[in-house]
Amino acid sequence: MSELVDVAGILDGKYDGQRVSVRGWIYNKRSSGGIQFLILRDGSGVVQCTLDRKNIGEKCFERVERLPIESVIELEGIVRVDNRAPEGRELSVDRVGLILESQPDYPITHKRHGVDFLLDNRHLYIREPKMQAILRLRAKTMEAARSWLVENGYTEAHSPIFTAAACEGGSTLFEVEYFDEEGVYLAQSWQLYAEAMISSLGKIYTIAPSFRAEKSRTRRHLAEYWHLEVEEPFTDLYGIMKVGDELVTHICHTLARERPRELRRLGRRPEELLRLEPPYPRITYDEALELLRGDGIELLWGEDMGWQQEEPLTKHFDTPFWVTHFPKGVKAFYHKPDPKRREVTLSADLLAPEGYGEIIGGGQRIDDYEELLQRVREEGLDPEDYKWYLDLRRWGSVPHSGFGLGIERLLMWIAKLEHIRDAIPFPRDMRRVYP
Ligand code: ATP
Ligand code: MG
Repeated sequence: MSELVDVAGILDGKYDGQRVSVRGWIYNKRSSGGIQFLILRDGSGVVQCTLDRKNIGEKCFERVERLPIESVIELEGIVRVDNRAPEGRELSVDRVGLILESQPDYPITHKRHGVDFLLDNRHLYIREPKMQAILRLRAKTMEAARSWLVENGYTEAHSPIFTAAACEGGSTLFEVEYFDEEGVYLAQSWQLYAEAMISSLGKIYTIAPSFRAEKSRTRRHLAEYWHLEVEEPFTDLYGIMKVGDELVTHICHTLARERPRELRRLGRRPEELLRLEPPYPRITYDEALELLRGDGIELLWGEDMGWQQEEPLTKHFDTPFWVTHFPKGVKAFYHKPDPKRREVTLSADLLAPEGYGEIIGGGQRIDDYEELLQRVREEGLDPEDYKWYLDLRRWGSVPHSGFGLGIERLLMWIAKLEHIRDAIPFPRDMRRVYP
């Protein structure tokens, strides 16, 4: 056999006119006259392969014709540039090697299936080219994020998943059995631990699962999601927004340059991502209420913005944009009140356009001991539970800020997904832990 290559390389035009071999699964097939069209999938993409009865011989042709989809084969042939092929290139096959014949009753046909059926068969559905494209974008998102963070001097750090303190409010906590302890939960964020680690490591980040018992079913909430979090000493609200601007832009540009085919398959033009430039527009919470009022949508000052408000607000922008200075009552206790206007916090959310809404939540943290103690009490929390966290303000406390970015939220916008569950291979929500 000739050189074994991957499908992405063929589609990228690396082997035009050359003889190569590919190995993968038969995703789909059809015949017309003496020609069979096999859509072959490997880990990198799908490519059309044509088999001509005259070239490969009667027996082989019929053997392939009888193979069920998802059978595994190795094909050798010449890469041809052909505008009629789905991706502009195809493999004109002259040798076939069977590796494994699949069973004939693969449940996912190329007809329409219901949402629940596809979720029950998620272990198979992730093979679909649409899911393959999303998951490849997801991997590249992680890679691009890491490379930007490392390049810019951030150290990766890790926090516990079993935690005893709530940081994002009690209503979405998952309580777990933990030996004889009461009040142990799955982490909603690395927040409190990150603040301890900055005095050891300086600028830090993590990419890890966060857990939220979201009791209402929405298109933007998972019970388990991947959270990219950044925490940084000697940085204020404006400094941390700049980090968010540059990180998100770097991810978008990297995907546009390195995964254009996957983006196009999902209906996102790479040029739309390439034209994004930091800094993104910034409006305050008060200005957001004004814009909404102009649209005939009333939100009482002090109330949190939900999707009903975020969605119309995004129509005013065609890039991501920040909403800053949220009222104290809608943000977690550790957000620093604005010294110039104490009823609002030095907080900022980054909202994605096109109706997608929040992808980042963050801001500046309280660095003063008395102020933090007062906020803990105001929220009705027990200072004893937060003793270690309060300690951080006693020895060497500096202004510091950070944010959390939902990987699936970001991907949902970039890949134009209708539902967040498709941004993760095996989604977890109120109704589903299978498969
Ligand atoms: P929302 O108001 O949309 O529920 P939040 O204010 O609870 O979000 P944060 O606590 O600020 O979110 O969390 C940081 C980021 O984590 C959010 O900006 C979002 O991208 C992501 N995120 C939060 N909750 C979820 C969830 N249930 N599923 C997926 N991503 C989430
Ligand atoms: Mg929430």
